[in-house]
Amino acid sequence: MPEQPAVKCPSCQSDIRAADESGLVSVLQEHLYEEHVLEMPGERVRENVSAQLQILMATTPVPSAGPKS
Ligand SMILES: [Zn+2]
Repeated sequence: MPEQPAVKCPSCQSDIRAADESGLVSVLQEHLYEEHVLEMPGERVRENVSAQLQILMATTPVPSAGPKS
């Protein structure tokens, strides 16, 4: 079972989860508005989400690795 993609809220670092990238964009945008009263343009949210997903996909999980940064 593939893991659902998840990104972090840029303001509070909460996990934002949705079925796919466009879902993440709308969930994050809604979260920003409801939790932080922050209206971020859809374009900016989309850039943030896709940047985070690229980092996730570029990172191969290493089970025995210690905490980094
Ligand atoms: Zn937040």
